[in-house]
Amino acid sequence: AAASSGGLVAYADSGSDAAVEQPQLPPRKKVVVLGTGWGGTTFLRNLDSRLYDVQVISPRNYFAFTPLLPSVTSGTVEPRSIVEPIRRVLEKKGGEIKFWEAECFKIDPQSKKIHCRSNVGTSLEGNGEFLVDYDYLVVAVGARTNTFNTPGVVENCHFLKEVEDAQKIRRSVMDCFERASLPFLNEEERKKNLHFVVVGGGPTGVEFAASLHDFVTEDLSKLYPSIQHLVKISLIEAADHILTMFDKRITNFAEDKFGRDGIDVKTGYKVVKVSKDDITMQNPATGDISVPYGMAVWSTGIGTRPFVVEFMKQIGQANRRVLATDEWLRVRECDGVYAIGDCATINQRKVMEDISEIFRVADKDKSGTLTVKEIQDILDDIYVRYPQVQLYLKSKQMNGIADLVRSAKGDAEKESVELNIEEFKKALSLVDSQVKFLPATAQVASQQGQYLARCFNKMKDAEENPEGPIRIRGEGRHRFRPFRYRHLGQFAPLGGEQTAAQLPGDWISIGHSSQWLWYSVYATKQISWRTRMLVVSDWTRRFIFGRDSSC
Ligand code: FAD
Ligand code: MG
Ligand code: MG
Ligand code: MG
Ligand code: MG
Repeated sequence: AAASSGGLVAYADSGSDAAVEQPQLPPRKKVVVLGTGWGGTTFLRNLDSRLYDVQVISPRNYFAFTPLLPSVTSGTVEPRSIVEPIRRVLEKKGGEIKFWEAECFKIDPQSKKIHCRSNVGTSLEGNGEFLVDYDYLVVAVGARTNTFNTPGVVENCHFLKEVEDAQKIRRSVMDCFERASLPFLNEEERKKNLHFVVVGGGPTGVEFAASLHDFVTEDLSKLYPSIQHLVKISLIEAADHILTMFDKRITNFAEDKFGRDGIDVKTGYKVVKVSKDDITMQNPATGDISVPYGMAVWSTGIGTRPFVVEFMKQIGQANRRVLATDEWLRVRECDGVYAIGDCATINQRKVMEDISEIFRVADKDKSGTLTVKEIQDILDDIYVRYPQVQLYLKSKQMNGIADLVRSAKGDAEKESVELNIEEFKKALSLVDSQVKFLPATAQVASQQGQYLARCFNKMKDAEENPEGPIRIRGEGRHRFRPFRYRHLGQFAPLGGEQTAAQLPGDWISIGHSSQWLWYSVYATKQISWRTRMLVVSDWTRRFIFGRDSSC
């Protein structure tokens, strides 16, 4: 206790008289953060680190700006321009936060300890393993690439998840061109080496295919004029379309543009095997087909890290695919553990699970029926606690709950309708169909990191004043509003200085103007002025001199 209160004293107002007796402060609670990606870093940047004893553990001692990873594969942006050393981020917070470059391999929620292993040398005593205690644990370890256990993928495909992956891809593209240029190859062999396959038609796969196409047509074709006509890019997607998470107009535009660009978009094909030389895919109509390839990038969604799977087994989540939290980002049945970003998913509470409780709270006069006014009085709480209600009303183009009540009664005119419990249940019975899972994006992870930091900053206040704004119980009173995601829109860069943007309110914009929006948004979102400068100067360099193709 003495050691940690020492830390607090050091933080006390520097102008104060040092001789004044400091009151005995309770030791600060230990917060341990796993991961330095979008979730973890945003949490740390927003946390008031004077309130806690903070330790950060991650096998990477830097933050990576993942939206620009596809640009690194083509050399449009340099790797060092998109990474920020985590110690620099922490230094800006006053140097109070400790960082250990290590990987957590086990969480022990009973004793509130985590097991870690240093990855900077196994020459360390006991293989570099150590234990860390926590009071609060923030799990922000992201996800791994999902291969769906497809044979040969790990051995033969590139992933695009980390900065090193992007660098390897870039080198591999250049190797393919050099190999295809060698004098003793025949035409078939040259074609094979210049066949680039992208598996997965989601945002990352599509952006990578587009940036590879730009790199080839704008830069490499000048350097390898004799073989450039042999280059082929294939994009393989198991579903019927690419970019299915976007508006139909964007999907269509992307498919058409890729068609014009000569990118072979193969939808409805599932890759079932990858060998050193061939990639085998399946389609109900054609059966198995195998095609030779030079380089393949696997980008088909994400999976849970093995140590998180183990943790889920320990806490009774063995039958789930992703670690579940409640709307306050707390891991259920696990005191003091929070999870954010790609490693977690929010289990939104259903209206129908709480319907009797909601009815009871709303029925102020205990009449056994609800009037529209009674419902309206608790509507704000309902909207906060169950955002699906608002989404449902919107989807039915209803203005408010009064419309819903009247439609349940089948009486559009009368003002004085009242509902009994059965009718109330019926009115809301379809609302839960609007529960949405949040996407695995940087936008979600960083908003969660920010939200959680704010909760941590106010935790002490809240303990002293536990009555929160949320009055519908469900599972006890809450001191904070639940996490609410604000979707700010999404980009799909399609190459040739064209980007599709889907902004809130279903506002769609495709073309060169949204490319400029893209540049400005990603310049703004940089986490330091240093990386912002570097990224902008990389873009400028590319405009003037083209991409660098040495490797
Ligand atoms: P991550 O950012 O992946 O961070 C996980 C952290 O945990 C890392 O620091 C990692 O080293 C660390 N870690 C891993 N294992 C352990 C362990 N055992 N112990 C301790 N630490 C560990 N999203 C968008 O919104 N817009 C985009 O344009 C976009 N483009 C993308 C492009 C690419 C190529 C990729 C790969 C992703 C893109 N994303 C984009 C998605 C976005 O990067 C992720 O959703 C986001 O990184 C999730 O944040 P996170 O904190 O959950 O995980
Ligand atoms: Mg993180
Ligand atoms: Mg990241
Ligand atoms: Mg998530
Ligand atoms: Mg009543």
